[in-house]
Amino acid sequence: MMKEMRAAATKLQTINDGLPLIGKSLEELRELAVSLGEPSYRGAQIYRELYARRQAQIEKMTALPAEMRRKLTENARVGLPEIVRRHKSADGTVRYVLRFTASGEAGAAKAATIETVFMPEEKRQTICVSTQEGCAVNCRFCLTATLGLLRNLTAGEIVGQILVSLGDNRDALKPQTNVVLMGQGEPLLNYEAVMKALRIILDAKGLSISPKHATLSTSGVVPGIERLAKETVRPKLAISLNASNDEQRDAIMPINRKYPIAKLLEACRNYPLRAWEHVTFEYVLLGGYNDSVEDARRVAKLVGNLRAKVNLIPWNPGELPYRPPDAERIEAFRKTLVEKGQRAFVRYSRGQDVMAACGQLALVETRA
Ligand code: SF4
Repeated sequence: MMKEMRAAATKLQTINDGLPLIGKSLEELRELAVSLGEPSYRGAQIYRELYARRQAQIEKMTALPAEMRRKLTENARVGLPEIVRRHKSADGTVRYVLRFTASGEAGAAKAATIETVFMPEEKRQTICVSTQEGCAVNCRFCLTATLGLLRNLTAGEIVGQILVSLGDNRDALKPQTNVVLMGQGEPLLNYEAVMKALRIILDAKGLSISPKHATLSTSGVVPGIERLAKETVRPKLAISLNASNDEQRDAIMPINRKYPIAKLLEACRNYPLRAWEHVTFEYVLLGGYNDSVEDARRVAKLVGNLRAKVNLIPWNPGELPYRPPDAERIEAFRKTLVEKGQRAFVRYSRGQDVMAACGQLALVETRA
């Protein structure tokens, strides 16, 4: 009994130190309720209020009795990030600069800023979420890489990005929300926090995003792909390929020296795709570098025996020494893939005018 009381006191102490509720699992919230002298089912009610109802204020969590709300207010906080800036694009895309308070979840750095991109469309919205601040993978065509890795984000910071951008656009939300882990960072190098966040995001009693509408994009961290393959709850998988042979990929994605194309594709072949699922290969077209018809033929051969689709992303101008591909070369590349039996689409990035497009996320605010 004494041991339990000591454990409860330690837990309360931690909460008093400012641990936010966002990012906590159902089990953790149940433990929290018990540590506050309440039955554990109150934890499930908090979970529902936070994630299913997306209630950002404890005092408005009306499923909880007044006494429980009082205890929660005294001992915890929701912990949503603050919107520091909104950069709104002419196409409606919003690039958010978000800040978590200094006393964020354990491991969070002090008051650092992160970025999230919200893209409204006719029938849905897509939220592009960051999983790390900066990135260590060092892809040569990506502005984020110029930051280096500053830190891993916590599960709360990952879930918080979705909640805050949905809340900020609550009056114009469409029925479907897509979540893509394609912002700053390599998700599979922050595996535990990313999976903890995904279990909340994909949970029907949590944020309730369908696994069909959530995508994790990796630069090709093979052990991470193998680990993800064993998860019962997982999003769709996207591979950032960007080259048609090892020599070319080595030069623009140093991670390829560790996990070359053959190894990466083997992990994809072993990946247990669900009936409705395919692997998406993203291919950033760098003008004059990897955008020839010969490249397209090699890519078709590489992914030929996989249930796959290829997204071609014309490179977005940034401060890096590449140029966007010509329109004719983009079309010739796509056509070659299609003629070889591949599903291939050209994806023009949105929000380029506010540096929200693929490979452009590297904050002036972060660098400061
Ligand atoms: S493309 Fe992705 S993995 Fe590569 S450096 Fe940029 S953020 Fe990191």
